[in-house]
Amino acid sequence: MRYVSTRGEAAPIGFLDAVLAGLAPDGGLYVPSEWPSFTKAEIAAFAGQPYAKVAAAVMGKFVGNDIPAEILAEMCEEAYATFAHSAVTPVKQLGPNRFLLELFHGPTLAFKDVAMQLLGRLYDYVLERQSRKMTIICATSGDTGGAAVEAFRGRKNARIVALFPEGRISEVQRRFMTTATDDNVACVSILGSFDDCQAIVKQAFQDDQFRHAVDLSGVNSINWARIAAQSVYYFTAAVALGGPERPVAFVVPTGNFGDAYAAFVASKLGLPIAQITCATNSNDILARTFEEGRYARGAVTATQSPAMDIQVASNFERLYFEAVRRDGVETGRAFRGFGDSGLIDIPPSAFALMRELFRGAAVSEADTAKTMLSTLNETGEVIDPHTAVGVAAAARVQLTDPTIPVVVLSTAHPAKFPEAVAAACGLTPATPRATPDLSQKPERFERLPASGETVKAFVRTFAATT
Ligand SMILES: *Cc1c(COP(=O)(O)O)cnc(C)c1O
Repeated sequence: MRYVSTRGEAAPIGFLDAVLAGLAPDGGLYVPSEWPSFTKAEIAAFAGQPYAKVAAAVMGKFVGNDIPAEILAEMCEEAYATFAHSAVTPVKQLGPNRFLLELFHGPTLAFKDVAMQLLGRLYDYVLERQSRKMTIICATSGDTGGAAVEAFRGRKNARIVALFPEGRISEVQRRFMTTATDDNVACVSILGSFDDCQAIVKQAFQDDQFRHAVDLSGVNSINWARIAAQSVYYFTAAVALGGPERPVAFVVPTGNFGDAYAAFVASKLGLPIAQITCATNSNDILARTFEEGRYARGAVTATQSPAMDIQVASNFERLYFEAVRRDGVETGRAFRGFGDSGLIDIPPSAFALMRELFRGAAVSEADTAKTMLSTLNETGEVIDPHTAVGVAAAARVQLTDPTIPVVVLSTAHPAKFPEAVAAACGLTPATPRATPDLSQKPERFERLPASGETVKAFVRTFAATT
């Protein structure tokens, strides 16, 4: 299995190289050179299988010969044994033909764990074989940092630096990072915004001398292994609801478009999906894109669902590449232009292809809060604000066949966002039994100004001493 860049100018590389590389040298994102697929019978045979088995089968399509099948199967077993639910990502009914796909049973209570737990093990495997020790740097608006620290802490061949904006993430989110005691973890509170954190990471990757000196790698949502690992639960959910005979529709709370794009990947692999709705909060770039045909950056506003406070959806470039029939020159032109103008007018033929599967729906802050309360009243389920954006959007989904099940991805446990849940529902969600109490543990982090040079100096010292 080879991977090519969406901008068409980088040499094709294998799975593990694509995972470690992150961005392609031409500025594009790696995608498989051709789509592997399952037959209907193979998908039907996923029914009743443990999650880790399905994960090994799906990941196997993307890994190719880079990892022996029995080792990949072992990694999946170990990764998903860290989840507190034996179904890993269970499906729960909300109402007539409405379901929740719970993705938050991992160690840090958000769906990022699903891919990150596997990613930590993939890195271990490849770095051990290459006798290499890498430095992973990660900017987080909250959930990614905790999931990454949990996945990489204590690993021999990788160290991790998590940058978060001071005062802009919840205490629960911060403590998932800062209470790790392992030597290979460094957390940095940046005196600035999430955008500042991202800019520092970008600058670090652009500094060739620095990148080589610390052997830098990234685990943000453009990492292909994360996308591949996220396509797995679309299979397990669809099969539990009568797939592949019966198509299923998904509603995905969306920020950087990693999760929703993973649904597209599942459909490319042969899973019958009727529709994918990208549910956004008031940071609605993708909702507008799929309704209006223009990808246009807006200003970021803070909401109750902070993991989706994003106005540039990095993985959208991958869908665009498919929609222009894999024309790398056109994709490069469009996304380099977007860097300057913040705007792409999607060609009508490409937009028509996107609309075959995708819809968008933006949900206001008031509707998000109302949906948390109405879901509690109607079902007894406490949902988090990101999930509530999805449930509110699901009420607007229109399908020609009303027998098609609509599945909303539940991306975080309500205990991760207690303030928003309490404000909407008047109760404090209980923390799951398996989650350790981090509230009394000592925290360990640096506070640094939003300066690329200062952070790089810190990372150099950290890399030299661990
Ligand atoms: C990251 C995240 C999202 C958004 O996922 P994308 O793949 O960036 O679209 C939604 N909800 C929660 C809780 C998240 O942590």
